Amino acid sequence: MKPKSADILVTNGTVATLDADDTEIINGAVAITTETITAVGPADEFDDWSVSQVIDAHGGIIMPGLINSHTHAAMTCFRGLADDLQLMTWLNDHIFPAEAKLDDQKVYSGALLACAEMIMSGTTCFCDMYLFEDAVARAAKDAGMRAVVGEVLYDFDSPNYGPIEKGFEYTQTLINTWKDDPLVTIAVEPHSAYLCQPELLKRAFNLTQSYRIPMVIHLAESKSEVEQIKERYGRTPVEHLAEIGVLAPNVLACHCVELTEDDIDLLQCFDVKVAHNAESNMKLASGVAPIPRLLNAGICVGLGTDGCASNNDLDLFLEMDTVAKLHKAMALDPTVMDARTVLKMATHHSARALGLNSFIGSLETGKKADLIVIDTHKPHLTPMYNAVSHLVYAARGSDVTTSIINGTVVMEDRRLISLDLKKVIKDVTKIADEIKAASLNSR
Ligand SMILES: [Zn+2]
Repeated sequence: MKPKSADILVTNGTVATLDADDTEIINGAVAITTETITAVGPADEFDDWSVSQVIDAHGGIIMPGLINSHTHAAMTCFRGLADDLQLMTWLNDHIFPAEAKLDDQKVYSGALLACAEMIMSGTTCFCDMYLFEDAVARAAKDAGMRAVVGEVLYDFDSPNYGPIEKGFEYTQTLINTWKDDPLVTIAVEPHSAYLCQPELLKRAFNLTQSYRIPMVIHLAESKSEVEQIKERYGRTPVEHLAEIGVLAPNVLACHCVELTEDDIDLLQCFDVKVAHNAESNMKLASGVAPIPRLLNAGICVGLGTDGCASNNDLDLFLEMDTVAKLHKAMALDPTVMDARTVLKMATHHSARALGLNSFIGSLETGKKADLIVIDTHKPHLTPMYNAVSHLVYAARGSDVTTSIINGTVVMEDRRLISLDLKKVIKDVTKIADEIKAASLNSR
């Protein structure tokens, strides 16, 4: 009988598959051929396989890559530029002036740095909203990362495309350019109900319906947003989107901090997906989204970091730890948001939120090979009674040793293979030097 074969065998680790049954294999292995997982099982079942490359997990954890369901990757350029300020001061005096000077090349460099940071902290897929998104798509592709990207659309002129009409043309070009790409998917991304007229929102939504792609939007992020929308339309932001007919299962609503019970019913009724960005909401003092309530209503909630200027890192391991603890403290109930629920949010639910759950989010035969290996031979991960507990409460992004995306090894033993990290850091440092010089000159 011909021996079974694989391109890559990741073996000798606890496999947390995060499949529907939460199957865990204590000494397990995952076989990969081209971009696909071809088998998952006990390591000894693969003894007679012919394998081109063996990756030894050394008794660590093998799991699906984490999925960041909402970020603005190129904002790595503004990490730590301005903290501890009121939202409007932060935006108007610091972020908007810096963003006005962005161009395609700077966004590419910032996004590439974000990809490096995300890969090195266990993220294999991200959903991005920003300017010059073709540069973000190229950065993701060059880094070997999976990404859902979309150009931010709003009523006023954009530093990238100018008037909104050109924004739709730019989005159409993105859709045409990246269709059939194995790593990059395009979404249509109107910024929010407060920066987009109903006509813009409806047009964006219709585009997503004709191409069957996601619509990503900021929704109910803060009290002031809700007040603005109520003043303008006499209803909450969620009611407003329902009223103009742009809520549907392909809509990913980011933040959802300020919701009424009726809003939650609407989100559930239209099967809208939610991206939860706890650390960003905390840092900007927007509040705490009612995530346990949304989960109880059966709403799909993924995890995101939001942009680096409001977080200030892209490490989803730290985000998971925060999310689990924040909601326990809010509810005064330690049983709320258990580790498994939070881990599922950062993997399977994020995948579903992006419409990618038949491809990624768990380790199962036939799915795309997006997986990571965690080194557990560390003081803060010893002993290990429960892998899931460690992943949420004790592990950090820096514990990830190896990352495979779409069957390609992009990091091995913490060495980035797809990127020249020194150059990536140098390029963004140069951009930051220009931002510093410009702010000194304007004083
Ligand atoms: Zn955002």
